[in-house]
Amino acid sequence: MHSPALVYHPCYSLLELPERHRYPIGKYQWLYQRLQDIGAPPEIFHQPDPIHPSQLHHTHCPEYITQLCRGQLDAKAMRRIGFPWSAQLIERSLTSLGGTLLTAQLAMQQGMALHLSGGYHHAFYAEGSGFCLFNDLVFAARSLQQQGVKRIVIFDLDVHQGDGTALLVADDPSIITCSVHCEKNFPYRKQQSDWDLSLPATIQDDDYLQQVEQALHCLLNWFQPELVIYDAGVDCHQQDELGHFQLSTNTLFQRDLLVLSSCQQRQIPVAAVIGGGYQRDLAALTQLHLQLFKAAFTLNDLALASKIKT
Ligand SMILES: [Zn+2]
Repeated sequence: MHSPALVYHPCYSLLELPERHRYPIGKYQWLYQRLQDIGAPPEIFHQPDPIHPSQLHHTHCPEYITQLCRGQLDAKAMRRIGFPWSAQLIERSLTSLGGTLLTAQLAMQQGMALHLSGGYHHAFYAEGSGFCLFNDLVFAARSLQQQGVKRIVIFDLDVHQGDGTALLVADDPSIITCSVHCEKNFPYRKQQSDWDLSLPATIQDDDYLQQVEQALHCLLNWFQPELVIYDAGVDCHQQDELGHFQLSTNTLFQRDLLVLSSCQQRQIPVAAVIGGGYQRDLAALTQLHLQLFKAAFTLNDLALASKIKT
């Protein structure tokens, strides 16, 4: 088995933010650097192009797309997103959308692909929220459907509910959404996914893994998707500054291994995005996001996997 395809663009970390802004914008560059340091072969990296805003029409309101891209949204709408408007912000968002799409396409070709960005699951049809401008998960799913993929599961293990995703495809039986999240956390007004596992902050590692496994196996066996888009957010880790779960680093690794191996065993293509993770200590945060890559390498390249600590 060869290494999974990895998708990255240097613009992901190129965004000037006010000092003390809580978004760890540097984490993408850190992650890319660490993967290079451990010897991930250059040929497995793929660089996406930004999408054209009109490609978003199957996911977002055309007026919202135009206003946001031109910097014409009002201050309240921008505050809800949580980033000050800049041309850089739009460029990196459109590139990240291209990245999740490319990751899904590579997964269809090679079985498994990982995006060093993505997971903007709080973006709604005509509104952004919680650091999310456009919903890359739904955008990629709809775009792949136009290319003939019929049944898609969006499996979201970020600690926050995938509320934008849930609402965007609420009436679409061909895209099944499952969100496993902390019941007492942002967004405080939850939407209804096809399957929500709203867990207490006190959940223990074993119990968490068991619930994830049950939901995943049930979905894969019952719905038999042709593609799984996996949001591997690490904000459920015990050291996260915005999550309330107490999960260990090893549990994140076991969880990611479970998702990737379950798909691989069934020969279902899986496209993973790194999702949320909030720590000011970028070295510590990067180590958590690396668990997804360790899990993927464990299935394909053990020598490489052994270079990432759990
Ligand atoms: Zn999150």
